[in-house]
Amino acid sequence: MNVLVINCGSSSLKYQLLDMTTEEVLAKGLVERIGIEGSVLVHEAPGQDKVKLEQPMKTHKEALNLVMAALVDPAHGVVKSLEEISAVGHRAVHGAETFSDSVVIDDAVIKSLEECSELAPLHNPANLIGINACRELLPNVPMVAVFDTAFHQTLPGEAFMYPLPYELYEKFKIRKYGFHGTSHKFVSQAAAELMGKKLENLKLISCHLGNGASLCAIKNGKSVDTSMGLTPLAGLEMGTRCGDIDPAIIPFLVNKGYTVEEVDVLMNKKSGVLGVSGISSDFRDVEGAANNGNKRAQLALDIFHYRVRTTIGAYVAAMDGVDGIIFTAGLGENSTTSRAAICGGLKYLGVSLDPVANSKRGEATIISDKDSKTTVMVIPTNEELMIARDTLALAK
Ligand code: ADP
Repeated sequence: MNVLVINCGSSSLKYQLLDMTTEEVLAKGLVERIGIEGSVLVHEAPGQDKVKLEQPMKTHKEALNLVMAALVDPAHGVVKSLEEISAVGHRAVHGAETFSDSVVIDDAVIKSLEECSELAPLHNPANLIGINACRELLPNVPMVAVFDTAFHQTLPGEAFMYPLPYELYEKFKIRKYGFHGTSHKFVSQAAAELMGKKLENLKLISCHLGNGASLCAIKNGKSVDTSMGLTPLAGLEMGTRCGDIDPAIIPFLVNKGYTVEEVDVLMNKKSGVLGVSGISSDFRDVEGAANNGNKRAQLALDIFHYRVRTTIGAYVAAMDGVDGIIFTAGLGENSTTSRAAICGGLKYLGVSLDPVANSKRGEATIISDKDSKTTVMVIPTNEELMIARDTLALAK
């Protein structure tokens, strides 16, 4: 049974076709610059050369048409006809309180997704465009929506409520939702396997550290706290996002003459590791500069490591202990030095790293040594596979 996974952004579209009998990726690709000049599709299949197609794609439907054509192309395609696609899984960003799990898409789900758009104005409308275009092109194929927020719907009230007037929650649904749920769920399942234990008996802290970064406390397989909030701006320092700051800074800046939109752009696009270092939002560049003695680059990294470490401390308190800490995503999977810097301050948890294991890359590995009281792991995340698994389970 083949499952097509679609991740639709406002001007981009990522896809993967997976054979779910083996969980093998048959093909994957990326369309960029949809609706703007220079639209391009890059399609890859294992053992074949990359195919690059540059032609105008005014809409997501046009882009999806080309993706479908690439999948069945006699030269570089991987299936004979679209009938070999049994189900489609769509990444959906915000499911609000309506969706606490993945769901088979029907008209009622589309309507609810539209209602959730207010909470994710950049992401949900793009997801919906992808879903609608796919439904038109493959009208008889079951489709499933998998939400970034769903995994965190198990958060208890004390973790998800902001201490604001309660009416704001009732009127506007202002609360913590959390994101990266598909990734946190995937790596927590893989961590239990790697530890040879049951997920239901474990206290885990998952550190998804990429350009966007969030931590998640997972007790007995359920998310009990996470660092992103109503939006993905909250929590840790990120590539360009400030994470948690004193909220009074916003009216302070507005009183200084900044518009609300300018403050929004400043916090989302000009802050974080980029804003502090003044060098780049890419951790590799900032690590390189810090190694060459750049003090602001080092400070940006120090803030990042400090926030991850202190949030780990908060989640140990939330769960009254921790059995395993997981590192995942671009930086979490690749940066030996960041992992060492973060874990350097976790001696009170009995954490000690195995330097040889910590220098490995690209595979699920335990990086703590045999004496470590808490198991520390690197687990490459795979959100597409998690979406495909949920899609398969529901489409059946
Ligand atoms: P996102 O999906 O949020 O865009 P990723 O999970 O792809 O982010 O992570 C991207 C980040 O990971 C970049 O900042 C990049 O610098 C960092 N990264 C990737 N490889 C390394 C590495 N070898 N060392 C340090 N940082 C790395």
